[in-house]
Parts: sequence; C-alpha cells; structure tokens
Amino acid sequence: MTDYDVIVIGSGVSGLSSAWHMAEDHDVLVIDADAIGNGTSSRASGVIMTPIDYPEWPEWTQHAVEWFEKLDGRGVLDYTEREYVRGVRPEEVEGAEEVAERDEWVTLRDPDDYYKWDDTFDEDSPYEKVLVWDEYTGYLDVDQWLPTLQHMCVKRGVEFRPDTTVEEVRVEGGEVVGVETEYRTVDADAVVAAAGSGTRPLLEDVLPLPIRKFVWNVAYLDIGLPDDYPMGGDAQEEIYWRPTRDNQLLIGIEHHYGEEDRPRERREQDDRGDQEAEPDGIRSDHHMEVGPGLEQLLNEDVPNLLNHVETADDAVRWEVCPMADSTTPDAKPIIDAPEEGPDDLVVAAGFHGAGVMATKSIGAAVRSYLTDDECPFPRDPMKLDRFDTRDTDFEFAPMTSWQEHMK
Ligand SMILES: Cc1cc2nc3c(=O)[nH]c(=O)nc-3n(C[C@H](O)[C@H](O)[C@H](O)COP(=O)(O)OP(=O)(O)OC[C@H]3O[C@@H](n4cnc5c(N)ncnc54)[C@H](O)[C@@H]3O)c2cc1C
Repeated sequence: MTDYDVIVIGSGVSGLSSAWHMAEDHDVLVIDADAIGNGTSSRASGVIMTPIDYPEWPEWTQHAVEWFEKLDGRGVLDYTEREYVRGVRPEEVEGAEEVAERDEWVTLRDPDDYYKWDDTFDEDSPYEKVLVWDEYTGYLDVDQWLPTLQHMCVKRGVEFRPDTTVEEVRVEGGEVVGVETEYRTVDADAVVAAAGSGTRPLLEDVLPLPIRKFVWNVAYLDIGLPDDYPMGGDAQEEIYWRPTRDNQLLIGIEHHYGEEDRPRERREQDDRGDQEAEPDGIRSDHHMEVGPGLEQLLNEDVPNLLNHVETADDAVRWEVCPMADSTTPDAKPIIDAPEEGPDDLVVAAGFHGAGVMATKSIGAAVRSYLTDDECPFPRDPMKLDRFDTRDTDFEFAPMTSWQEHMK
C-alpha cells in the first residue's frame, strides 16, 4: 500500500490547482520546500489577461477565467473584471488589424471611439489607435487567491508538508513510486512536478526539460488613478500595468537574460559582466535587486505613454521576484506526462509570467493525464515533444506571440 495516491511537488498556483483537481477522488499530499504558496506565485501581479497571453487557446482561456468569475465574492476573493488595452503606434496598425480580425475578444478602436482614451494615454503618446480586450480579462490579488486555493484544497482533504525539499523523484522499473525528501521517503502511485523554476533541477536525471528561469520587476505608483482605469501593456517597452484596489498603478517589466533585447540599462549592467553566471544563465545578484531598467522607464518613457505617470518618485513599493518564474523555448507551458519520462509522472511548469491567470486550466490538464477525465481543451500544444531541445540555453521567446503581429 502506498502512502498517497498522488504527491504534488510545489504549492504555487500550478501545484494547488493540480492538488484540488486530483483530491476530488484521490489522497493527495502537497510538498513544498518553502511555506505554502510562497514561491513565484506569491509575487504575481494578478493580471488576468489570458486572451492576450494565450491567444491561440480560447478554450483554455474560457475554462480558466470563468472560474475566477464563479469564485468572485466567495471567501476572501475579489475578482474584478476590467478591460485590457494596448496602444497601437502608426507602424503597428496593420498588425493590430490582423490581431483584431483573428482574435475573438478584441476590437481595434480610434481615439474618439474609446471613451477612456484621454484618461489613459498621455496627450503626447505615440499611439494612433487602441486594441481593447473586454472579455475574460480582469485582476485579483494573489494574497487572496493563494489562501483561497489552499482552503479549497484543505476542504477536499489535501495534506500539506511545507518546508520540505524534495530531493528526488523515485522511479522503479520505469514507474514513479514516490519521492525522497530531505527528511524521509514517501510512496505514491503518481507524482505531479509543479515546482516552477525548480522543476528542471528536480527532474534532471529523470526527465530533463527545456525550462529556464527569468524574473520581472514591479513598482506600485501612488498617483490617484481615476476609477475604472483600464489594465494594459506596451509591446515595445515590454511593460504591463493594472490599477490596484486603492487606485494605485502597478507596473511591471519583463527581464530577459542572455538576449540582445533586454531592457537597455539592464543590458549595459549585465555586459559589464563582473558577476558569475549561474548554470541556468541568471546571475544570482539579480534575484533580489530592483532593476534600474524599470526606474528609467518610469522616469523617461512611461510618462510619454500614460496619463497620470510622471516620475518614479511616485513609487511606494518595489517588487522583484526572488525565486524566478520559469519559461520554455516558445514561452508556453509544458503540461504533459511525456513518454520519454517514467510512467505516472506529470509535469506542469514553464508558465512564463502567465501562470496565475491559467490556474484552473493547469489542474484540469494535469487531471486528464492521471484519470479517465477528458481535458476540457486541446492539450497537445502543451506537450514536451513539440520541442527539439532538452537544453536550457534556448533563446528567450517574446512575451506574447501576438507581439509578432505588431512588429
Ligand atoms: C513579479 C511577477 C509578476 C507576475 N504577474 C503575473 C500576472 O499578473 N498574472 C499571471 O498570470 N502570472 C503572473 N506572474 C507569473 C506567475 O507568478 C507564475 O507563472 C506562476 O506563479 C507559476 O506558478 P508555479 O506554481 O508554476 O510556480 P511557483 O509559484 O514558483 O511554485 C513552485 C513551488 O515549488 C517549490 N519547489 C521548488 N523546488 C522544490 C523542491 N525540490 N521540493 C519542494 N518544493 C519545491 C517552490 O518552493 C515553489 O513554492 C508573475 C510573476 C512575477 C514574478
């Protein structure tokens, strides 16, 4: 007799969603090296822009976001529906027309046709039009979302073992038989590896994965935004933003590593090259540092894009992601029980800044591999065998695939 039907390694949004889905009819143990939900998920901005980050996966989007709508107001969770806007520069209009034609939840609008234009964009902004997504977009706070998920898991009988590092996934005769933790051996019929950026090192000997780390920087500006300020982003500057419940502006920027198109300041700093690189290509000094790239953006570039933003001096809080999110060669996740790995091992990792918005769909996909349940959306796009490589030195993919259309 095994100790558990399923062990889930990792208690971020991926692990908690997987555990909740499996606990409907299985004994589930969640193990985390840290406190529950204290990984990358705890730093997320809570922007739900699933149609923008997963434009080719409408069923995945619907499945994920309808859950937020359903859970809104239950327990501590507030989910706020809000449109997401993307200013369109003159040279981007043709690409934006294609996006609007192709994607079902977005429209391309003129300034006169978008009533929040003047409240949103600076009068000197370079934008000629705006793409507006107004379905399946919104925001929540992860310090409400993670306890909500954990509570839902507890109600289904999930057990938790925090502050316990899994050192190895145990395999016998080609099948998973459990895990070895820093304290003891635990048996299970199946293992879900949902360890975020820890997934690659954890599975190194069992199932090498093309997953590498990257981080974001975030600042909160106290600038008294008007009510109903839209969420949004700018492809060229690689930023996104959203209003907070107390009308601050949360603004974030993606960091790239080992590429030419990293934010300028950061690139110059990296190029000085006086720090040892970790094997995965991220220098340890960056983990805890607020990047000067964001500060420069807030002082120089964003004031010309967004009304209300004037200076980085308005920042009341800076956030970095000390533990790093994970990404893959195409910036889309791997959710799979690959044939090249042992039986009964499911992987859910590589969410590239878009894991929280996908919470529900992650667990549903994991469950479809461990039970006879059908996956409510196509799962082939998440399979490992779409990649030729298992290395981690791949090029950093753009933030969202629709960006290609905007160039
Ligand atoms: C600043 C920032 C802003 C973001 N904003 C958004 C956003 O607005 N919307 C959105 O959808 N996404 C956002 N993201 C991305 C999102 O946070 C991630 O995609 C998501 O949280 C990944 O969840 P996860 O469960 O895969 O990983 P994690 O949350 O990192 O969880 C993995 C867990 O595994 C544990 N672990 C690792 N190795 C081991 C081991 N060997 N043994 C035991 N436990 C282990 C870790 O301790 C960790 O708790 C943002 C990320 C950052 C950093």
